[in-house]
Amino acid sequence: MASADEIQKQIEELQNKLDSLKKNARQKIDKMSSEVKDSNPYSRLMALQRMGIVKEYERIRTKSVAVVGVGGVGSVTADMLTRCGIGKLILFDYDKVELANMNRLFFTPDQAGLSKVDAAAKTLNFINPDVTILTNNYNITTVDSFTKFLDAIKTGGIDGQPVDLVLSCVDNFEARMAINAGCNELNLNWFESGVSENAVSGHIQFIKPGELACFGCAPPLVVAENIDEKTLKREGVCAASLPTTMGIVAGMLVQNTLKYLLNFGNVSNYLGYNALIDFFPRMDLRPNPQCDDSWCRQRQVEYQAKPKEEKETEVEEVQEVVHENNDWGIELISEDNNEEIKPNAPMASSGLKHAFEAPVASQQSNTIAPTVSDDVSLEELMEQMKSM
Ligand SMILES: [Zn+2]
Repeated sequence: MASADEIQKQIEELQNKLDSLKKNARQKIDKMSSEVKDSNPYSRLMALQRMGIVKEYERIRTKSVAVVGVGGVGSVTADMLTRCGIGKLILFDYDKVELANMNRLFFTPDQAGLSKVDAAAKTLNFINPDVTILTNNYNITTVDSFTKFLDAIKTGGIDGQPVDLVLSCVDNFEARMAINAGCNELNLNWFESGVSENAVSGHIQFIKPGELACFGCAPPLVVAENIDEKTLKREGVCAASLPTTMGIVAGMLVQNTLKYLLNFGNVSNYLGYNALIDFFPRMDLRPNPQCDDSWCRQRQVEYQAKPKEEKETEVEEVQEVVHENNDWGIELISEDNNEEIKPNAPMASSGLKHAFEAPVASQQSNTIAPTVSDDVSLEELMEQMKSM
């Protein structure tokens, strides 16, 4: 016997199908094809294989990601992952779409008054019917809902296993702490993201329980300014937001999600963004052995006990990017000068107000200088320049 919830879900699915038919939506596609033709929604993504960036793009269909918070960052994140053909998306939010959200991307004025997750699911289904989208319309910080949230991420994988990644796109401290507690307990990797209340800076932070600092070990620099977030929600007082900053942070978040899920490039452990000077600091944050979260301390012990080789293979997930056709012989040289900051080190614990003050030296060393390899003759080079 199907429960009322299941019947409700089936009705919603049928409704979505009906809406798609009305809007002349495309049919589902069984297998991603790399065939270059205008009617193939995946041709440009599959071309990442031909370009030597991703080994097996279609693996994205086996991945499941939870997006918690479907606001200015979360909705764009869900949109990007849907267009990239992610296997499954699980959305969490309890807010409604409002006209005051229209300075951001994704939602449209006709959706005002609808729940964010339902409105998002409709649009996302229409964009890409191949993606399974589940919606959860509740506040994860209440006791009952937190249990439901844990269950959803524990069994939300394509195969009933835990989700591959949790993305936090929430706007408040309590929700971040709830995600942190859940992911430490379930030993799930997740990304925290945030945009400052003055709308001109943001960050993403990768959290691997036991290996990298959790949100309780050291809250990220931008949100750690000791502002009582409740004061931001007072009547008539509201935080600023820009579609630009939110779009950039969502882009940073999804880019690193794709790198992590499809195993290419370097996943940033912490990436900041200061819009006023266009500065993007990167760093690593190691866990705090005295973290208040007992699961975090437990995960640190487990991580330390792992054999050295196992830790190294985890780091070596990154593959060398090989360009199959590098006709112009162009190389990118990156001098990675990541600073490692321990959360309990004095510079990180005292207020964290320094947020994005860029030391001049590290700014220079972080620049990526395109260089031309030596074995190209001058004539060839001239020829290449002409053809650009
Ligand atoms: Zn911790």
